[in-house]
Amino acid sequence: MSDNLRDLYRDIIMDHYRYPRGKKEIDDASVKSEGKNPSCGDEIKLSLKIDDDRVKEVSVSCQGCAISVASGSILSELVVEKDLDEVKKIARIVKSMLKGEEDPDLGKLEMGDLEALQGVKDFPVRIKCALLSWTTLIEGIESWQNSEEFEVSTTEN
Ligand code: ZN
Repeated sequence: MSDNLRDLYRDIIMDHYRYPRGKKEIDDASVKSEGKNPSCGDEIKLSLKIDDDRVKEVSVSCQGCAISVASGSILSELVVEKDLDEVKKIARIVKSMLKGEEDPDLGKLEMGDLEALQGVKDFPVRIKCALLSWTTLIEGIESWQNSEEFEVSTTEN
């Protein structure tokens, strides 16, 4: 990676760290999820408003290092107005990117500022920081989907 590119990526990350996006709280959130990364001390609270299997609003509140905060901020921009299958796919691609793994869909994703996080794969201790918001997001969506299924099956009986 060239020095210029590295500087650009650092500027993007620091901008998200100083001015995190998606901080506005959601009154009637469908999904609430919390996550911690004990190895660094990062903590995140994330909520979503879901309508018709689509993310309508995202709220992210992250306390931690620049990488974890920036990753949560970028997440809030990327997943809004996406349907849940797309969100899961994006999360999978992000995971592959951060771990330096091959992913057939990696080239297809509109990366936006996410690109700035790809240097993280060279710093294994930081990968968990960058992944925290994404794993918290998927855990929240999956437990919400499971409880929805439960409600549907109990009302049907
Ligand atoms: Zn961290």
